[in-house]
Amino acid sequence: MPELGAHVSAAGGPQRAPERGREIGCDCIQVFTRNQRSWQVKPISDEEATAFRQARPAQGIGTVMSHASYLINLAATDGDKHAKAQAGLESELERCHKLGIELLNFHPGSHTGAGMANGIATIADTLNAICRNHPDKTDVTLVLENVAGQGTAVGADFRELAAILERLEAPERFGVCVDTAHAFAAGYALHTPEGWEAMWQAFDDALGLERLVALHLNDSQPGCGSRKDRHALIGRGAIGPEAFQRAVTDPRTRTLPQFLETPAGPAGWAEEIRWLRACTQGPPPPLPAIEDSGVQL
Ligand SMILES: [Zn+2]
Ligand SMILES: [Zn+2]
Repeated sequence: MPELGAHVSAAGGPQRAPERGREIGCDCIQVFTRNQRSWQVKPISDEEATAFRQARPAQGIGTVMSHASYLINLAATDGDKHAKAQAGLESELERCHKLGIELLNFHPGSHTGAGMANGIATIADTLNAICRNHPDKTDVTLVLENVAGQGTAVGADFRELAAILERLEAPERFGVCVDTAHAFAAGYALHTPEGWEAMWQAFDDALGLERLVALHLNDSQPGCGSRKDRHALIGRGAIGPEAFQRAVTDPRTRTLPQFLETPAGPAGWAEEIRWLRACTQGPPPPLPAIEDSGVQL
């Protein structure tokens, strides 16, 4: 049985997030440790960090993953933007280290016209610099997330993630999170049994399954290969319910923490988590009748 959870709000301080997770039945939670749409960052106090570390076991929360700011582009070609991106991810790493958060998930970046090979090299060089600057923070695994492949984004194809990892000086500090909606948009036909199989074969060939540390469970509004990132409610999008039952039962994925980022919102996530748990026990039950909140993560 996987740990199942969702992306919960850290409004009012990170120490508030575990309780919000428990209220909707999460075993694991994903959080932002900062306002993800602003470069302004408020420091985490010692009191907040202690409260967060105590709240996790008190609320029955297992794995915690932080999602880095969407503003960070490690492949930025503009010097100022690149410096901001590196400092931004370093600050996220420091915050995770202070809070005791074990997984820091981030999107690789966008090459903005420099080309895929240059993008991959810039991302890897930046990650090497970050690791060199923080040799003491090996308690936080840096997690590369696959992306839908919009625009000049790097990391829609698992081989692009592998090319980044091959250039890393400390690859043991890194893992990979697969977002089902992004993989589907990138062209992995995981909605069919054959496509699901082919996707994990491609992952294993490029990266090795031992790199896989988490899943983002999202259905997709656009179709397979659209390269568009629009999440849908579990089972209600173009992927459909069966792939999510495979996620919670397949021996390659069923032991991983799995996080919902669907537009269901907290009350809907509680229903989706219940549905996913039921899927571990038998054939998928009818999908919960929940509303799309319109909020995209
Ligand atoms: Zn993401
Ligand atoms: Zn997405």
